[in-house]
Amino acid sequence: MSDLASLTISKARDLLSTGEVSALELTEHYLQRIESSRNLNTFCFTATELALEKAKSCDRLMSSTDRGKLCGIPLAVKDIFCTQSLPTQAASKILEGFVPPYESTVTERLWKENAVLLGKLNMDEFAMGSSNETSVYGPAINPWQDPNEATPLSPGGSSGGSAAAVAADLCLAALGTDTGGSIRQPAAFNGVVGIKPTYGRCSRWGIIAFASSLDQAGPITKTVRDSAILLEIISGHDKKDSTSVRCEVPNFEAALNGDIRGKKIGIPKEYRIDDTPAEIIKLWEIGINQLSDSGAEIVDVSLPHTKYSLPTYYVLAPAEASSNLARYDGVKYGYRATLKDDEGINELYKRTRSEGFGDEVKRRIMVGTYVLSAGFYEAYYQKALKVRSLIKRDFREVFSKGVSAILTPTTPSPAFPLGSKNKKSPVEMYLNDIFTVPANLAGLPAVSIPTGITEKGLPLGLQIIGPAWEEANVLNIAHRLEKDSNFRIKPKQWWTS
Ligand code: GLN
Repeated sequence: MSDLASLTISKARDLLSTGEVSALELTEHYLQRIESSRNLNTFCFTATELALEKAKSCDRLMSSTDRGKLCGIPLAVKDIFCTQSLPTQAASKILEGFVPPYESTVTERLWKENAVLLGKLNMDEFAMGSSNETSVYGPAINPWQDPNEATPLSPGGSSGGSAAAVAADLCLAALGTDTGGSIRQPAAFNGVVGIKPTYGRCSRWGIIAFASSLDQAGPITKTVRDSAILLEIISGHDKKDSTSVRCEVPNFEAALNGDIRGKKIGIPKEYRIDDTPAEIIKLWEIGINQLSDSGAEIVDVSLPHTKYSLPTYYVLAPAEASSNLARYDGVKYGYRATLKDDEGINELYKRTRSEGFGDEVKRRIMVGTYVLSAGFYEAYYQKALKVRSLIKRDFREVFSKGVSAILTPTTPSPAFPLGSKNKKSPVEMYLNDIFTVPANLAGLPAVSIPTGITEKGLPLGLQIIGPAWEEANVLNIAHRLEKDSNFRIKPKQWWTS
């Protein structure tokens, strides 16, 4: 019997189809691991009974040809995906007790292929954050450790629980969402793969909204192949989301031939920012050389408006969030503050929102309402929209010159200790998103893959950004880099009880 913990989706698929392992064995194995790994705080809800039942039904289906592409594969999803009849809180107190009567489209697509849901994963509240520390459940913990640090490391955010659970082998793969980097940054911090697809590739229906013009769901997996498998399943038009695009979904897995000969890979000079640690610059250089050795043509490119990405994002995302979060008022669902006899509806709104939202969420609502208010709308919101167009245009120009993809670091640092970045100012945390937000603002697909480790033994990721709808190409370049960099290190297992 092969080592169940180190399986990937593609290996598990083979073992399940030959009967070497049963869906029930696999599911029981992961449920046990989740139980003995509670101190990583990655799962906020475990669907034990449901998972066991589903696994048994998968085993009965296993010999059928229409058993589904993920039959018996145990997965977990970020707590931002509405799961029918199962708690969904987006790690916020304000959604306490919320049990959706419907299923998000992307998760529904997984269950239709007979994947097994293990549970819901920890995240930053409403996906706002880069460290998982804004969660009502407390932060998930990165399974990687810094030998010189007593404090555990952040798994990144906002899909920190998803990336940490995959890295710690608590599920075969997970889904996250990415508004400004929340799939790619945690993937990089935990030594796993994460892809944010083109805006409109996947339906956002049933995903708790943060910033609707930026949010996209995507897989977090152990390999590029697994990301390709999951992405194909969750992609495609959905009539319930008018921003999901009617465009053909390629067979992403079949595109992984590793042949990148003759492809032009752009290296943007604006990503060479001061203060980037030498280790990250070195990793980038190694990646560039590996792609070149594999036959790609490396070209220097310029994305001149990149430097405005962070301020643009931190105007637009809060503006959209302030509107999206106006629905949480304590009336129909979720948390409701207890009122005194003489208090009315206004007190109900005020107290529910004051008690139900955490500090970071409140900050975003305040910033968002400010930049949308009369007198400031033109100066901030409208200006940011204009700059967003310029950022998009930069990418379009680069890709129109035959550049297939852009290679950059994913993050400006490896995982940092919990509590180390939110002391002075929130901006310190926001700076983490410097390399990831441009792809969101431009709506482009971008993948992070682990390619090396720091001197202290922490994983680092490289990011590949491609033209819209070119996930197949982006994944194939990532697959090449995955092979060439041969990143195989796993975190030492210190956390099991
Ligand atoms: N860290 C970014 C933020 O706090 C991105 C979050 C995300 O992608 N959901 O907004």
